[in-house]
Amino acid sequence: MRTFLLITLCMLLLAAASYAQSPIAIVVHGGAGTISRDRMTPELEKAYRQKLEEALRKGYEILQNGGSSLDAIEASIQVLEESPLFNAGRGAVFTDAGTNELDASIMDGKTLNAGAVAGVRRIKSPIKAARAVMERSPHVMMTGEGAEAFARSVGLEMVKPDYFKDEKRYQQYLRAKQKSGKQSLDYEEIEKHGTVGCVALDKQGNLAAGTSTGGMMLKRFGRVGDSPIIGAGTYADNEACGVSATGWGEFFIRLAVAHDIVALMKYKGLGVQEAAQAVIDKVGQLGGDGGVIAMDRQGNIAMPFNTKGMYRGYIDTQGQLKVMIYDDEQ
Ligand code: ASP
Repeated sequence: MRTFLLITLCMLLLAAASYAQSPIAIVVHGGAGTISRDRMTPELEKAYRQKLEEALRKGYEILQNGGSSLDAIEASIQVLEESPLFNAGRGAVFTDAGTNELDASIMDGKTLNAGAVAGVRRIKSPIKAARAVMERSPHVMMTGEGAEAFARSVGLEMVKPDYFKDEKRYQQYLRAKQKSGKQSLDYEEIEKHGTVGCVALDKQGNLAAGTSTGGMMLKRFGRVGDSPIIGAGTYADNEACGVSATGWGEFFIRLAVAHDIVALMKYKGLGVQEAAQAVIDKVGQLGGDGGVIAMDRQGNIAMPFNTKGMYRGYIDTQGQLKVMIYDDEQ
């Protein structure tokens, strides 16, 4: 009789556990850089805040309906890719050859599956392509024409390269190019950042992270940054956190930023805030700049950066929405 009761109790507990839902939360960024109030108009600031909010709400709705963190980050990132305000998808920065070359990556914290594309010019949604590489190919990363042929073969929407060309961004490019011809290029003066990224936690308790970018203004054509590199620009591991980075990619690659944050949590027991801050400090010490968004399985969020600003926002486990731009906002 006692055994019977014990077994029934165990079964009830197991059933309850499988119905128990994790809290949900989502965090996005739209790039870090020399973003200060004196460079901003009220209209532009409003437009940025609205788009970040739209991206957050889009992903959060998916999470609320029981959708996966992968679906949520893909949808949020697509909102930002389609907006010319951000350096991803439409509105991407230009290479020194005047082209737009896009990079993106995605990672599933439950399985550690990952996918990425680099240097693509004709895939409408690079983040969608990264996900297709993860789920529909045996590979993790595909580049250029091969990635485009793959995207076409799995039915993703293709566009002409000038779909990504935004006139304002193009004028910025022409100005930067003119300057770089005359003197050594002052990277602070040109808008080099503006990547987008997202981390989400779903009702199943799974984390996912993704990043999408046009890279850095005036990068040499063929240059690949950190954003499509798993471990540098993106990482997700349910045992630690999900991370998406933005900043001077060369430094983020050299420090394996996203994975380093995960490693500090897993092997040193640091919390997400401490780990993310420690790694951004390392970026600064090496001479780089930028920031990350990171979230752990309890929904704790960290968003350290060492630039003047970072477009960022979250909807936390309490359902509170917050969007921020400057370094004095918390
Ligand atoms: N990390 C990106 C790159 O280096 C740029 C950015 O985040 O602004 O390609």
